[in-house]
Amino acid sequence: MRFTTSIVYVMLSLAILSRTSQRAGAFVVQAKSTSRIPWSTRSCSALASTASSDVLEKLTSSMSVTHPAFDIVDSDVVKEYGAYCTMYQHKKSGAQVLSVAADDDNKVFGITFRTPPTDSTGVAHILEHSVLCGSRKYPTKEPFVELIKGSLNTFLNAFTYPDRTCYPVASQNTKDFYNLVNVYLDAVLHPRATSDPYVHAQEGWHLELSSRSSDLVYKGVVYNEMKGVYSSPDSLLGRESQRSLFPDNTYGVDSGGDPRVIPTLSFEDFRDFHATKYDPSNSRIFFYGDDEVEKRLEILDEYLNEFEDKGTASETKVSWQKKTFTEPKRETHPYPTTPDQPQTHMVNVNWLLNDSPLSSDELLALNVLDHLLLSTPSSVLRKTLMESGLGDSITGGGLSDELLQATFSIGLKGIKQEDVSKVEDLIHETLAKITMEGFEDDAIAASMNSIEFQLREFNTGSFPRGLSLMLGSMSNWIYERDPTSNIKFESALAALKSDLESRGDSVFTGLLKRFLIENTHRSTIEMVPDTALEKKQVDEEKAILAEIKSNLSDNELDEIIEKTAELKRLQALEDTPEAIATIPSLTLSDLDKEVKEYPIAVTDNYADTGITVVTNKMVSTSGILYATLAVDVSDVPLSDVPLIPLFTRIAMETGAGPYDDVQLSRRIGTYTGGVSVRMSTSGVMEDDADDLVTEGTKLTSKLYVKGKATKDNADKLLEIFNLVLTDSKLDSQAKIIEMLKETRSRVESSIQGSGHSYANSRLMSRYSVNGFIGEQTSGITYLKSVKQYLDMAENDFPALLAKLEGIRSTILKANKCRDGMIMNLVADEDVLNESKDDVEKFLNGLPGDASPEEKFTNFYSEEHPWATQAKAVMGDVKNEGFVVPTQVNYVGQGARLYDVGEKMKGSASVIARHLRTGYLWDTVRVIGGAYGGFCTLSGGTGIFTFLSYRDPNFVGSFEAYEAAADALIEQAENLTSEQLATAIIGAVGDLDSALSVDAKGATQFARWLANESAETRQKHRDEILATSKEDFIEFAKRMKERMTKEKMSTAVISSKGSIEEAIEQGREMEIVEVL
Ligand SMILES: [Zn+2]
Repeated sequence: MRFTTSIVYVMLSLAILSRTSQRAGAFVVQAKSTSRIPWSTRSCSALASTASSDVLEKLTSSMSVTHPAFDIVDSDVVKEYGAYCTMYQHKKSGAQVLSVAADDDNKVFGITFRTPPTDSTGVAHILEHSVLCGSRKYPTKEPFVELIKGSLNTFLNAFTYPDRTCYPVASQNTKDFYNLVNVYLDAVLHPRATSDPYVHAQEGWHLELSSRSSDLVYKGVVYNEMKGVYSSPDSLLGRESQRSLFPDNTYGVDSGGDPRVIPTLSFEDFRDFHATKYDPSNSRIFFYGDDEVEKRLEILDEYLNEFEDKGTASETKVSWQKKTFTEPKRETHPYPTTPDQPQTHMVNVNWLLNDSPLSSDELLALNVLDHLLLSTPSSVLRKTLMESGLGDSITGGGLSDELLQATFSIGLKGIKQEDVSKVEDLIHETLAKITMEGFEDDAIAASMNSIEFQLREFNTGSFPRGLSLMLGSMSNWIYERDPTSNIKFESALAALKSDLESRGDSVFTGLLKRFLIENTHRSTIEMVPDTALEKKQVDEEKAILAEIKSNLSDNELDEIIEKTAELKRLQALEDTPEAIATIPSLTLSDLDKEVKEYPIAVTDNYADTGITVVTNKMVSTSGILYATLAVDVSDVPLSDVPLIPLFTRIAMETGAGPYDDVQLSRRIGTYTGGVSVRMSTSGVMEDDADDLVTEGTKLTSKLYVKGKATKDNADKLLEIFNLVLTDSKLDSQAKIIEMLKETRSRVESSIQGSGHSYANSRLMSRYSVNGFIGEQTSGITYLKSVKQYLDMAENDFPALLAKLEGIRSTILKANKCRDGMIMNLVADEDVLNESKDDVEKFLNGLPGDASPEEKFTNFYSEEHPWATQAKAVMGDVKNEGFVVPTQVNYVGQGARLYDVGEKMKGSASVIARHLRTGYLWDTVRVIGGAYGGFCTLSGGTGIFTFLSYRDPNFVGSFEAYEAAADALIEQAENLTSEQLATAIIGAVGDLDSALSVDAKGATQFARWLANESAETRQKHRDEILATSKEDFIEFAKRMKERMTKEKMSTAVISSKGSIEEAIEQGREMEIVEVL
């Protein structure tokens, strides 16, 4: 049920990258000795317990709402989430509708179709993109983009799964919500794409030719997106693993599309796929939130009553893959690498778990088993594999249970060729050993409590709760099972607890035997490095295209030239104002004028401890205390700052005080909802400064120990805080080597998969001190440091240990540290009162004098010591191309748009956003074929960057960036009041995201720490709301002067060949090998 484990393609890359996806209604457990886990005695969910009686009455009555066009099929209350569900069927079309009334203003709508493909042409994925490109009622080129530009949505995207395609939207504003619903319904049911072949060409694939003498090339948004996916070794391993287990059903093909197969998809097949799969009778429609149920049904009937149930929905049913392997399968596949990289292998062992439905109880137990095996560094299978030293990091992700059939995958990457079979053996031996020896009681207690905490808290971060529920229900519903049964967990939880009571850990060892050990339907996939693969693929594609070209007559070539030109012409064509006016939108008067504030109380020298305490009193946190302790790290020398991420990881993973690594991890699992430690720096506003651009030298730099627990366990949570901060085992050499290898491997994959963020960080590092420091701890430079620390850990550990001890003694210096400590507490009044003594005791027990002699610098008026050190080592601005094995590019270019001391108005963010969702989307994504094209404008430092994501172009994207200012000037001069309003609404939507209760507290804490006043925020919002055409013109002129080829520097992540080609075309840059 985890949203993250199956292979899913998303419409908007960055939206999904920046949002934390959460488990969608996965089950949880509870340990045998319930006395140790007070949490388990709660019988009512967090959500349900906070609803007032008025609200409850309204929710209950919503379940009996009727509409003449619909039958009520079923109704149900999911008490766990306060979800009042009614299942309707539309009489005429046969569409099924799950209408959920809930006391949550973050409303969610989604329509999902069963779209199991029979080949790897990517037809489902291409259709997902294409239906959002204009429809009957909304004839603009991309209504989807109009919604991104100017709605208050809290979620807007589309997903292609291996067997379904989902179109979800969310908004906190009712009018906005129904606008989104209308556009999405019209898009999926009446898309332009089924009658206009240019959509298929643009979003899927097409041949491009500029003249008879030039080379044919393949272009297309999905084609290019998938090329990016297929050049990532990790996703190749995942794909081959899934394919290998399903030789006979739809899961054996790639719904996203294999770049080698995509060009075999004809327009006719594409159109037919829509006709059969996008029929209402084959859909599952979901509504959630506090809007009126009548209104939902009314809107739906408008769309659905045009359709007749043809009774063909069963044709899209996913058929079961039978467990037919009598012998495990073994396969090897190549993955692309370069000669300079270590030639390591990857291996996954994969099981197909079931070929008939699993019960809710079984699924829950499997989720706990998965947690026991893999979820924390101390989980037995993860720990054994990592400590073996055979590889760098874990692959596979364990249990995946959101499709019809569940799988389990586990392996390692970064292994030597001769160790591949050792890894395989180790996996099987470890599992066998567990079935013999069983699980320890406290391991079970920790896993049970962790999962139960997650389920009850149901904290989905910025991901709408309703969407989590929708995705969870879909894992049953689209297989014609009860949609609410597997988002409920109380009964399965109770059953598992009682099962554990009577049978002990054999509950889990039994599952292990049945689903893994004795299951021969499994495969081993080994990925072998191939330095020639990337070139081979390029050559193969060239040969195919040359072959195609040689068989084409001059007339046919001319036709392709014409079509290429026509597509470009259509893409460059502006939508008419009449077409744009069809897209329903809000007006400026619909927007909230006021900034949302979440009041805090600040107490200096709290209870004479010398420590500052910030309190966020919330209406209800359902019995949970959210706590953060911030410790100042500014006295650590800048040269050692890249070591702090390792220091924070050691704090969590090597054990602390009386506890070894396993004991500590289980303690955290048993008594808390999680603890984390990380370091963060952030720019602050200078005292008395009027929102002016700075060089980024005023900073705070803190180490944050963060966690949550029920109020009964506040004391244990805080005891853990103290231990990990003061008494972690820094001398754990073997563990530290393991962590550094794992970090190296993770950062390397991340550069290949998210190169745009590394390019951005590099650009920022050239112009601002804050950016420079950030790059040291999370950019390309960080990877270099990690490699050096690894070398030190292996060859001169005492030197590394001395540095780590130095960091600890510096940040805990007795006569100073408490002056820089701040505690942030988020809870309701009841929890705050009851944990008061625990907090005081904790603060008193922290290191340092209650009246510190030394004080930290005033960071709001003085330069941060790291800034001083950074300025001394920051080099000249230069152009760089970073080499990694990849078939796509991440092209970045940027410069300072505002000088230090200049005033940057709130309107700047409106205009940058307008550029991103307009010109850059059109030029870099639609015309250029990149998966994403963006720009960023840093509020505090005035630095502007252009970026592309999985981009087939290189120099072409530079040219697009360099032409941006002219395009913006033209747009600014012709800007209509509607366009202006759209841009403003979009920017306000960005400000007002839906926040969970702990996020509200964290937001206000960050504002306070940044020295940002409520007046400043309101002024910023006022400026956004008042953005004018003149602001656009002024901004565009500024860009014209500063965002030029000469003034911008470049940072590109790409292959060596592409970088060299760009240099040949006159783009000077330094070549830097990264991996
Ligand atoms: Zn896509």
